[in-house]
Parts: sequence; structure tokens; C-alpha cells
Amino acid sequence: MPLFKVAIVGAGPAGYFAAQALQNQQNEDRTFAIDLIERLPTPWGLVRSGVAPDHPKIKTVSKVFEKIAADPNFRLFANVEIGSEISVAQLKEKYDAVVIATGSHLGKSLGIPGEELPGSLSAADFVPWYNSHPDYVDVKVPLDCDTAVVIGAGNVAMDVARMLALEPSELDPTDTADHAIDAFKASAVRDVYISARRGPEHAAFTSPELRELPKLEHTNVVINKEDIDAAIVRAGAEPEKEVKSNLDAMLLIAESQKSEHERTMRFLFQHTPKQILGTDRVEGVVYSTPNGDVTIKCGLVITAIGYQAAGIDGVPYENGKVVNTDGRVNENLYVVGWAKRGPSGVIGTNKSDAAAVVELMISDLKTPKAAGDISQLLTHQVVVDQSAWQKINEAEVAAGEPKGKPRVKSVKRDELLKLGLS
Ligand code: NAP
Repeated sequence: MPLFKVAIVGAGPAGYFAAQALQNQQNEDRTFAIDLIERLPTPWGLVRSGVAPDHPKIKTVSKVFEKIAADPNFRLFANVEIGSEISVAQLKEKYDAVVIATGSHLGKSLGIPGEELPGSLSAADFVPWYNSHPDYVDVKVPLDCDTAVVIGAGNVAMDVARMLALEPSELDPTDTADHAIDAFKASAVRDVYISARRGPEHAAFTSPELRELPKLEHTNVVINKEDIDAAIVRAGAEPEKEVKSNLDAMLLIAESQKSEHERTMRFLFQHTPKQILGTDRVEGVVYSTPNGDVTIKCGLVITAIGYQAAGIDGVPYENGKVVNTDGRVNENLYVVGWAKRGPSGVIGTNKSDAAAVVELMISDLKTPKAAGDISQLLTHQVVVDQSAWQKINEAEVAAGEPKGKPRVKSVKRDELLKLGLS
């Protein structure tokens, strides 16, 4: 039975769903040996370092990932960097197909004056900071101010604003990084603005996230009812289903806002950021609005306006994505997930996306090349394989148990390696 070897670069949702799609396509004509390669010592990508820790249900998809990994023809090679340590060209020589699944983790910038000031940062740095990503432990998040501004009207902006506006003890039973919980507990921030440059009818939030907001037990959530009434008029008699659902959810918030709590999350619409003020650090944001310029004084600004992919040598990039046609890049190189289509869609979107790319790949496959695999290319021995990852995983879960947390993540690469390779 022909055995095709496929290397997948990037062990996030897109990578795992590509592996699953390959596994689902096995029959008497073809089988697949899958090597999943990851730069970090740990897999799971944004399920580990992107999903908000107060949304543990979203992380249960990791059970699916571990089922995919249990297949005897699946191997994990974590702590291995493609692009520097091993080239994409080398992988392409060895494997019948190579799939790039590296996501997009660089935050887009606004391109306005003051964006480089201390206290102005991207969600692309803030989110992995509170999620224990080893590369982001040292991100400076000044929380010594009373007001923070989050720019953007998508679900990432919502996660960020919620994390800033939550009563921090609500994070105790979560896997939020200890350094972040400590910082949030010491935080002076009490007012969090979340600003959209367009009206509520154009917001990129999804309604389940909006519907959760009134359930926050210690935070006032404030939406101006006039903003929603005007948006309902603009949206017309037959708005799209998602728009209607969003507007309904926002109207509900606007009609039942609380004011008794010390912490407040406030939505601003039709506020286009123009300038970030400050000399040595952020002091405010100037917006242009339909009523003229408005300044919000604040000491922290977090932009959550989308992501772009980081380049890997040997892979063509354009406009923050890998250059591809329906997932085909060139020869035996393919791309899936955010690196393919840009930063949109929820985790599950990657499933159908990967399945479609795998179908194309299969139509390209001829006979297996049997040219070896990554084990002949490795330049060091400190590889975290599936059994080493399982040791890390079990150790983190065990460390969380006495604290009532799902896990305590290690924030240092060497600690992770020690756990896995002991
Ligand atoms: P997004 O949904 O594309 O939202 C980006 C937001 O940034 C939009 O509101 C956009 O406004 C705004 N924006 C872009 N450029 C701007 C600028 N120059 N000035 C001001 N605002 C600007 O992106 P995201 O929030 O990063 O989320 C990425 C994907 O992950 C989405 O599909 C999202 O649903 C998903 N996600 C899901 C969850 C969840 O399910 N819980 C959590 C997090 C993320 P315009 O529309 O005006 O351009």
C-alpha cells in the first residue's frame, strides 16, 4: 500500500486539522506518515497561547488534537525551527508534500503618530503575554493607569478588553499566566474603552461573545443605546442574520447596563484613531468622530486590528499571507489556515479549509518518493516528541490540580524541555 510522507510545519489548529484531513483520506490506495513540526517546545498553537483563558470550553478542541496525535503514523517534532535550522527546500526534497500551517502572529499596526510610545502595544504581544508564551514573558504592560483603550471591534479586541476589565480573581481558576494574574491584581485600570472605527452594524464581534458580556459578575458593560438605535435604522429592514444577531445582543446590553461595579468596559463607535498622545509614554488617544475630534485620556493602548503572517525563508509571502492558489504554493508545497487565507474565522474554520487543501494535494500525488524524513536533517537532539509532550502536558495539569486550575503552564523553554525530556 503506497505510503506518502507529509510534513506539516506548525502545530496549531490548522496543522492538526491538516493531519486529520490526511488521516481521513487513507484507503487501500494510499496511507500517510505525518510529521508535525513545531518551533516551540509545545504544540496546540493558539489553543495554548491565543484563546482567552476565561474561555476554557474553546480549548477542549485539544482533545481532538491528541486523538489525531495518537495515530501510529503520526509523529510530533516540537522544538524544531523550520527556516533557520532546517530549510523548507530540504523538507520538500524529503517529503511527498509539505504543508505550511504557521498562522499569522504579527499584529497589524495603525500607522498613526505615537504608536511607538511605551504603553502602546499590539494584542499580538499582549495576548501571548497573559497566556504564558515563552517568547512574550517580558512584554511590558503598564497597568498603573486608571484607563485603558483597546482599538478594534473584533473578537480579539473583545478578549483583550474583557481580560483588562475582569475582576482579576475570576482568573484564579484559569490557566492565565501567574505573572499576568499578579499584574492584573495590582492593576489600577478601572475603565476600559473598546473602540470601533465604524458603526455597531459593521462590528466584527460575533454574537455569542457579545451575549456573554452581561454575565460578567463584577464589570459594568456600557453601550450607548442611541448608537445601537441609529445602527438599527442604518442596517435597514432586512439586515444580514449575523448583523441582526449582533445588534440584538448589543441592544440588550444597552438596555440593561449596570453601574454598581468598580470596573467598566465601554464601547465607542465611529471613533477612528488619529494619534496616540504622550511624550515618554501613552497619555491619550485622539479620535476623529462624526462630531469632531475626541480625546480619551489613558495610559495603555492595545491595538487589536488584525494579524499578518511572519515569513519563513523559501516560502513566498505577499500582503501578510503565503502566496497560494486555493492552498497550492508551488511544487509539493501547500499552505493551510491563517497563513493561507489571512486572519479570519474561528478554530473550526480550519477543518474544512484543511480538508479542501488535502483534496488538492491528493490530486497532485503520484508515487511516494521514499527519500527519508526530518530525522536525517535534525541538527540537535532536543526534540520534543509526542511522548515528551505528553510528559509536559501531564506535569502542567498536575501542577494545576491543587490550585483548582486546568493547568499551570511553564513560561520558560528550558523548564518545558526539562519536563518533557526528564
Ligand atoms: P477581525 O475580526 O478581523 O477584527 C478586526 C477589527 O479591527 C475590525 O473591527 C476592523 O474594523 C478593525 N480595524 C482594522 N484596521 C483598523 C484600523 N486601521 N483602525 C481601526 N480599526 C481597525 O480580527 P480579530 O479580532 O483579530 O480576529 C481574528 C479572527 O479570530 C476573527 O475571525 C475572530 O472572530 C476570530 N476570533 C474568535 C474568537 C472566539 O470565537 N471567541 C476569539 C478571538 C478571535 P473594520 O471592520 O472597520 O476594518
